[in-house]
Amino acid sequence: MKSHRTVLTFNTPHRRDYINITTDVEAALAKSGIREGLCLVNAMHITASVFINDNESGLIQDFDDWLEELAPHEPVEHYRHNGGEDNGDAHLKRQVMGREVVVAVTNGKLDFGPWEQIFYGEFDGRRPKRVLVKIIGE
Ligand code: ZN
Repeated sequence: MKSHRTVLTFNTPHRRDYINITTDVEAALAKSGIREGLCLVNAMHITASVFINDNESGLIQDFDDWLEELAPHEPVEHYRHNGGEDNGDAHLKRQVMGREVVVAVTNGKLDFGPWEQIFYGEFDGRRPKRVLVKIIGE
């Protein structure tokens, strides 16, 4: 069995951002040379998510509005976590949107369903943060 590890780094300009990282993951898969296997993609920070959904700008804005309704950033003193920090909301948003995705690799390609794309969801950005891509197979 072969394995391949890549770390992607994102430093978003805003506190919250949503980035389509599908081509980054496809590049890692191409570099791995793996044709059949599994591809894990996970946020390496507890205030960011990796998730799969549609690459449609209205939907991305709907996710952001929904997350802000569930766990608004302000007022920051609303969160017990916010002693020396102001990212209590970001931990909750990450939990809702998930840590990782796993995609099957078939014939050298990510074996997606219709419209599936991989996104990095940032909830406490403006600093470098990492995403792990681990691909195993043959
Ligand atoms: Zn925190």
